[in-house]
Amino acid sequence: MSHKLETKAIRTQMERSQHLEHSTPIHLTSSFVFEDAEDMRASFAEEKQRTIYSRYSNPNTSEFIEKIADMEGAEDGVSFATGMGAIYGTFAALLNAGDHVVSARSVFGATHSLFTKYLPKWNIETSYFKVEEPETITSLIQPNTKILYAETPTNPGVDILDLAYLGEIAKKYKLILIIDNCFATPYLQQPIKFGADLVIHSATKLIDGQGRVLGGVTVGSLDLIREIHLFARTTGSALSPFNAWVLSKSMETLPVRVDRHCQTALATAAFLEKHPKINWVKYPFLKSHPQYELAKKQMSQGGSIVAFEIKGGLEAGRNFLDALRMLSLSSNLGDSRTIVTHPASTTHNKLSESDRLEVGITDGMVRLSLGLEHVEDIQNDLNQALATL
Ligand SMILES: *Cc1c(COP(=O)(O)O)cnc(C)c1O
Repeated sequence: MSHKLETKAIRTQMERSQHLEHSTPIHLTSSFVFEDAEDMRASFAEEKQRTIYSRYSNPNTSEFIEKIADMEGAEDGVSFATGMGAIYGTFAALLNAGDHVVSARSVFGATHSLFTKYLPKWNIETSYFKVEEPETITSLIQPNTKILYAETPTNPGVDILDLAYLGEIAKKYKLILIIDNCFATPYLQQPIKFGADLVIHSATKLIDGQGRVLGGVTVGSLDLIREIHLFARTTGSALSPFNAWVLSKSMETLPVRVDRHCQTALATAAFLEKHPKINWVKYPFLKSHPQYELAKKQMSQGGSIVAFEIKGGLEAGRNFLDALRMLSLSSNLGDSRTIVTHPASTTHNKLSESDRLEVGITDGMVRLSLGLEHVEDIQNDLNQALATL
């Protein structure tokens, strides 16, 4: 019987122990014992699947992986200590020296560093396409191109990329399509339906949703996941069983949390759009978003992130942050607490101004990650801060 997403997030559960616990217990153990010499031999020969050592697998990480894989419609997955662990582990496992990657230019800052600073050490080059010009992708594909990579919605500009179009290109040119689905979560968008081979999450964000733990996961087809798992267990970026337990419990409330994040984000985006001190607002489910129709096609709701530009540039942006009383200034996102960031002076400060403008980051741009506080309290704080400008 196939369950709905909300039910999968709750009812996908590891086998109960002899204690018949209702909620999943935490298996804080580095290793597992064998019944006898034959059990040990057969386990190492991989004639049976069982827990051996928590760098390889652990009941808590397995439960967490199964939930994400189930919701994403994937066959299997691998968990990692962080989202960047998942991104690096996936690329390093699948690429060989001399391979080539095509990626959207708007990617998470550390992913951009991986592409431009570290992968080139192994002679792996990345060509970027602009999110507004996906038709240029095919001109960037080379005989050695192996991976097509993108995030949607993007960070911090909340642009939308057409997953079905990326899926078609990947199929035609036999590329591995990898989507960082962190902003949407598996509840709002399932890229595998549109042709993605692998989906990556930073579980640190909305999956935990309460700013407590770091985690990452890659899910997809059995053959690719097997290669990634062998690399991951050798190189050791293992998710701790405790964090996996936290994340699996968090998944149980992901749908209700994300519903509220999205309602508050949409209402706040509409409120900001009418504000005289604001130049523009971008939110996927606002009719003014250039890819509103596309967002509606591939996402069930608009997500928790709103981008907007304050009139008055850098100085006004910084003054606005200083005038906030309740909202948090933090580089994180996807938290129960509403978070405000100023990308130009923080997360994207390593980019030159022209590189920033290329990914839509103007000096007055603010990124808002809507939390779970009462929507009126959030809007009141934004309003009083804007009034000081
Ligand atoms: C935060 C983030 C990551 C990295 O995740 P960590 O858990 O911090 O390593 C990757 N991609 C996106 C879109 C993110 O927001």
